[in-house]
Amino acid sequence: MIAYLGRIVHDNDAESKLDDDVSSISKSLDLQGSIENGDVSSLASKDFGGLYSVKPLFLIKPSGAEDISRVVKLASRTSNLTVAARGNGHSINGQAMAEGGLVIDMCSTEKNHFEFLPINGSHYIDVSGGALWEDVLTRCVSRYGYAPRSWTDYLSLTVGGTLSNAGVSGQAFRYGPQTSNVTELEVVTGKGELTVCSETLNSELFFGVLGGLGQFGIITRARIKLQQAPDMVRWIRVVYSEFEEFTRDAEFLVTQKEGESFDYVEGFVFCNNDDPFNGWPSVPLDPGHEFNPTHISQTAGSVLYCLEAVNGLLGRLRFVEGLKSQVDVSYTKFLLRVNRAEEQVKANGTWDGPHPWLNLFVSKSDVVNFDRTVFKTMLKDGVGGPMLIYPLLRSKWDDRTSVVLPEGEIFYIVALLRFVPNGPSVEKSVAQNREIVNWCIKAGLDFKLYLPHYQSKEDWERHFGNRWSRFVERKASFDPMAILAPGQNIFRRDP
Ligand code: FAD
Repeated sequence: MIAYLGRIVHDNDAESKLDDDVSSISKSLDLQGSIENGDVSSLASKDFGGLYSVKPLFLIKPSGAEDISRVVKLASRTSNLTVAARGNGHSINGQAMAEGGLVIDMCSTEKNHFEFLPINGSHYIDVSGGALWEDVLTRCVSRYGYAPRSWTDYLSLTVGGTLSNAGVSGQAFRYGPQTSNVTELEVVTGKGELTVCSETLNSELFFGVLGGLGQFGIITRARIKLQQAPDMVRWIRVVYSEFEEFTRDAEFLVTQKEGESFDYVEGFVFCNNDDPFNGWPSVPLDPGHEFNPTHISQTAGSVLYCLEAVNGLLGRLRFVEGLKSQVDVSYTKFLLRVNRAEEQVKANGTWDGPHPWLNLFVSKSDVVNFDRTVFKTMLKDGVGGPMLIYPLLRSKWDDRTSVVLPEGEIFYIVALLRFVPNGPSVEKSVAQNREIVNWCIKAGLDFKLYLPHYQSKEDWERHFGNRWSRFVERKASFDPMAILAPGQNIFRRDP
């Protein structure tokens, strides 16, 4: 079997017989799921970024963890095959792809686990690694009245995909990222071993996999902390013309005690003009609300700032009077807000185009400099989509996970969510992203890429800094042949 796979990997003439190969591989693997040719047009060669496309050998739709374990073990017996778990393919830079390798479609396992677990007065849900967060939300709320505590802005992402990065949204200042809200994982390691892990059981694997960019194992089940879901939320946006006032209020909100602040805090930068995507019209929460620019002072600069919050009192905040937008919506409608926007953007064709996005964590100590150079200068005309910026607290993140952060307690997530038809071209956007990252390095900013993408080992070493050796040791323990997640470009499987 292995020799046979080696032959199809190396022999181009064999391509014509791939259909036969598929069925014999499936049989000899004893797969309960299915296997397809790795066509370039198939979903395994695509991601949301739309910047990269590579052809895998096969796309595998496993029925569960046993199938995944068999596939990884098979790859480990070849000299060169790699395996990429593909969540919902919402990466930007081909991170879920495997050139000439085996791509596992995790969505085919999404229905395998869904168990509500009351344990010692707390509540948890066991879900599949391939489950979509939107399904976790709607099923948890409608059946049990409970919901996870920490989210991403958009929910057509898989549990395993976001846990491999961090999973951040406006609740993270209070509950930490999604990686701080999981208590147990079931993982298929790079050796094909199916292992349950937690803070106390196989803890090195547990913390390694969280934020581990898919390098140490494939998450097949996760146990997520829940809280009671509210029925309704009050969703508010207020506007600032000065960055220092925006950050002071945002930092004030994220450092208040629970019960004395909001349940969700985010923010974004927008252009001080009437551009429909980048400017004033991007602020009102309801088409019936108008943005009245006469409230903005004459001295305001090229960009303005919007603070977005849920369920709390604005009392002490110093936003621009008259520029407040507020709606009351159901909790699920609020959490599904970007999914609704997706429907609108799909209707105008922009959703399926390329998305050269850039996400960074920037230390509080450097964020004013970042605003001045990046937002006020390089990006003063916008990026053709949202430019998010809001503070997070390092103490809510667990240092034992594989995620790396800037120093200091407060840091900002910056997300440049580019939709190309409304912004600069792909080439210009990619070049601008590179220019921003290069400037951050050159200016000595304390920053890290979130959803990182680097090409060289030196860049990855710099990214991980003093955590690099721990990352390398985890790789040696759990995926010593470098089979998993080759699309991250961190380790290479030697032929
Ligand atoms: P994929 O892109 O399919 O995979 C990502 C990586 O994880 C790959 O390396 C893959 O091999 C690996 N992987 C996938 N599944 C598993 C698994 N089960 N076990 C181990 N490794 C696995 N992120 C935020 O934090 N906050 C946001 O608000 C947010 N909003 C977003 C909005 C949109 C519209 C998009 C496109 C992305 C957003 N993201 C956000 C980024 C998102 O978290 C990442 O794209 C993430 O990779 C999840 O996507 P996915 O499930 O499609 O994973």
